[in-house]
Amino acid sequence: ATPTAVMVATGKGASLGVLIKGGNALEKAHKVKAIVFDKTGTLTVGKPEVVNVMLFSSVSMEDFCDVAIAAEANSQHPIAKAFLEHARKLRQKIESNRQSNNQHVTEAKDFEVHPGTGVSGKVGDKMVLVGNKRLMQTCNVTVGPEIEGYISEHEQQARTCVLVSIDGKIAGAFAVTDPVKPEAKNVILYLHSMGISSIMVTGDNWATATAIAKEVGIEKVIAEMDPIGKADRIKDLQMRGLTVAMVGDGINDSPALVAADVGMAIGAGTDVAIEAADIVLIKSNLEDVVTAIDLSRKTISRIW
Ligand code: ADP
Ligand code: MG
Repeated sequence: ATPTAVMVATGKGASLGVLIKGGNALEKAHKVKAIVFDKTGTLTVGKPEVVNVMLFSSVSMEDFCDVAIAAEANSQHPIAKAFLEHARKLRQKIESNRQSNNQHVTEAKDFEVHPGTGVSGKVGDKMVLVGNKRLMQTCNVTVGPEIEGYISEHEQQARTCVLVSIDGKIAGAFAVTDPVKPEAKNVILYLHSMGISSIMVTGDNWATATAIAKEVGIEKVIAEMDPIGKADRIKDLQMRGLTVAMVGDGINDSPALVAADVGMAIGAGTDVAIEAADIVLIKSNLEDVVTAIDLSRKTISRIW
């Protein structure tokens, strides 16, 4: 493409909310044959909500909430924010029913983030873990059949389950749902009609990922990936001779955004992802994945 064509396309893109950082992305986007999508915050809205809380031990709902609130208090993860909001309301309801005013809520000591699995900390003299099954397994907390049943029941409905353990025993769990973006399904369908295949690569578990993929019509799913794993899956596709785009929003996605021929960041995503990408979808709308490819096609065929 000529420098003029690139300049025109870049200007046009900016007016449409598609920020193109250089000519290279414009040169490549029209050749894309496969697009890898992150799940949370990319295909889904990224604002999870708690839909169920379940106790698995003799702990009271009041104490369960207090302990889990304290453990999640300093987490930045969207699941933590969703839980805090829900649990604080639940907690207030218990208080007002009883007309008492117990204040047990504190922050955990020795708070630690376990990327991709959860958080841990000490609440009073109790050791607390909040996270997925993998976190419990790494910390030698037994996940019994009753809890396994709870997990699979919710995961089949595209929900993510979070377990809470106190002193090495599962005390309870909660399930969150994060709806898919309204445009997701049509965009995937349209990309397929353009001869572009779709793949989901996520840090979340297989069952939830598969259920979401089905909802939006994505053909292939790869779950439980860490950031390097995500980038490696991009390289696998490139090794097959495909030009690959990656669409993501998280810190988790930045190595994959760099590895892809065309990295596209969701505008509402993290700064790290936006920095790593070649193209930023300012409106955070997946339809702009098509807009970006279209701008590239027009630039190469010199329609303007
Ligand atoms: P994604 O790739 O979907 O953006 P992450 O890698 O951030 O997901 O997290 C993967 C999983 O780890 C989450 O689905 C959740 O089960 C668990 N997790 C991570 N952080 C937390 C937290 N603060 N509280 C509860 N669960 C968490
Ligand atoms: Mg994400």
